[in-house]
Amino acid sequence: MKVPFSPPRIDEKIINEVVDTLRSGWITTGPKTKLFEKKIKEYIHCSEVLCVNSATAGLELMLRWFGIKEGDEVIVPAYTYCATANVVMHCGAKPVMVDVGKDFNIDVRAIEEAITSKTKVIIPVDLAGLPCDYNEINEIINRKEIRNKFNPQTKEQKQLGRILVMSDSAHSFGAEYNNTKVGKVTDVTVFSFHAVKNLTTAEGGAICFNLPKPFNNEELYKYLSIKILHGQNKDALSKLKAGGWKYDVIEAGYKCNMTDIQASIGLVEIERYEEDHLPYRRNILEKYTRAFSKFNWAEMPTYETSIKKSSYHIFTLRIKNITEQQRDQIIEEITKQQIAVNVHFIPLPLLSFYKNLGYEIKNYPIAYDNYSREITLPVYFGLKDEQIRWIVDAVVKSVSKVLEITSDLAL
Ligand SMILES: *Cc1c(COP(=O)(O)O)cnc(C)c1O
Repeated sequence: MKVPFSPPRIDEKIINEVVDTLRSGWITTGPKTKLFEKKIKEYIHCSEVLCVNSATAGLELMLRWFGIKEGDEVIVPAYTYCATANVVMHCGAKPVMVDVGKDFNIDVRAIEEAITSKTKVIIPVDLAGLPCDYNEINEIINRKEIRNKFNPQTKEQKQLGRILVMSDSAHSFGAEYNNTKVGKVTDVTVFSFHAVKNLTTAEGGAICFNLPKPFNNEELYKYLSIKILHGQNKDALSKLKAGGWKYDVIEAGYKCNMTDIQASIGLVEIERYEEDHLPYRRNILEKYTRAFSKFNWAEMPTYETSIKKSSYHIFTLRIKNITEQQRDQIIEEITKQQIAVNVHFIPLPLLSFYKNLGYEIKNYPIAYDNYSREITLPVYFGLKDEQIRWIVDAVVKSVSKVLEITSDLAL
């Protein structure tokens, strides 16, 4: 039995909606993208939503909007996908990496210690879909002595008067914190709709805005809609209308708009997301948890606490007391059974680019410990019970083989 890692959920409904867009005569940003933004806004209950062509573009756009440049520092977890730090590099600023906790998420204490007068933004990452400690993070940035340290340079920085919290919520669409959807708990939240994410548009992303006064989120939305289209004050659809040819360019903007083809996939996905997609994923995580609880070598991920609810994006199993080499061997054994697993993630200081910049993994012991013992198991809509049993069986056998535990003992 072959088990893929996370195939997208493509069915007739999605195909029909995409075909409808193709036949409509309008395939780039237009009515479907605007409708998708509206649906996301209704789902999250945030102030405004802007769709873009990736989470990476959304994160970078917002750093640029906030005026991040050389000399600035942006705090990111050492344990994340490279996109979180790459966008900081693009702006010429310094990603200040901090360690994570046993729950894989950014360590709030480490954030406090890393804040300097150069800190402009914190980018927490909701790893595996579990929201970060946002009460604590929001408390820190609002603290008087931290606000006094803040050294604003641009109009936007002066208006905010403190560090901006922009969550990288690439994994956590639909997750909840204090009974509030992620997307509403921080100043800015960026979601990813990449093909392997919970809710996909093939490629795509969305930015949710909840900036405090004196910001006007609606005006910001309008301005950024222009900024993601070369700074051109009229989009392609309005230009197409008779007599609508004249346009102006108000700044050297970017090009990262979402197309209606992408949005049509998202429209079908979001409609059934809460009712059938999320419970399906949760069920898979429950089944894995129940199955592995029998084994004392298994360390299960947290996906619900008294105030957090994950989006059940991935199942991050850790094996107790093993080395990185043993983990790699276990993965090799699992792969022999035709099951695709992954590791989320290789900590940034272990990647050549960041290592060469001087980041050292020894400064991030928990990130390394999490990574060295982690195996991400398949979670996707449509994964069947018999496949789950097959995966569990393959993991148990592989662990037993590599750790030389006899099957009896393992059970
Ligand atoms: C997938 C991912 C991204 C990037 O998303 P794109 O939409 O592909 O740009 C950023 N951060 C994390 C943690 C991710 O997993």
